[in-house]
Amino acid sequence: MERKEELKRKKRERRIKQFIMGTVFIVLLIGGWYFSLIGYFIPLCMVAGIGMASIKGRKWCNWYCPRGSFADSYMKIISPEKRIPDFLKKTPVRVGVLLFLIGMLTYQIIRLWPDFYGIGRFFVILLTITTTVGIILGILLHQRSWCYICPIGTLSNWVGKNRYKLTIEPEKCIECKLCYKTCPMQLTPFEMKHEKEMKFKGDCLKCGLCVATCPKEALKFPG
Ligand code: SF4
Ligand code: SF4
Repeated sequence: MERKEELKRKKRERRIKQFIMGTVFIVLLIGGWYFSLIGYFIPLCMVAGIGMASIKGRKWCNWYCPRGSFADSYMKIISPEKRIPDFLKKTPVRVGVLLFLIGMLTYQIIRLWPDFYGIGRFFVILLTITTTVGIILGILLHQRSWCYICPIGTLSNWVGKNRYKLTIEPEKCIECKLCYKTCPMQLTPFEMKHEKEMKFKGDCLKCGLCVATCPKEALKFPG
């Protein structure tokens, strides 16, 4: 009973935080078209997300990230929540998207320098295009599909892969797969019962939903 309450509380808190950050995202995206300097919140998110990854993995992407929160709070309503295809999780696809976006960004910064407003406007355009792709993926597949190819997510994955790792006590796990069903990134913590590592472990958001859901208390984070 206590665990059920704990899970409910965790989910409620997460929902509220994500609703606030998701709404902030909409305001920033619309506001950016009127005040181009708002676009600079993208590099700020980049630094904050990757900085946090060096300590806690992709925790930034759980609810601190305005676009991730927008996905879970708004996109979730209209997404069919299908399985995210494995090709979006593959390194060559992620590296390709990362290089393409960084290349485009670098080219535009050099071209527009020293026009700070122009560069800010370009950040807003980039945010709008990538969000549109994220929305399309969300409508066709799953609200968090974009998070697998997001450049901040990819870099955070590399930086924070082995930070603040989720672990399992194999003898406790009954393979009910509730951890998988509750995971916003469709990860499979139960696999650690037999495998050394969880597949795509670097994409764990450290949201703790699987830990709170597990009926056998088999999963845990350090400390
Ligand atoms: S929820 Fe717990 S018991 Fe069920 S499969 Fe996951 S780790 Fe195992
Ligand atoms: S594996 Fe657990 S902690 Fe990681 S994202 Fe999935 S539900 Fe959250």
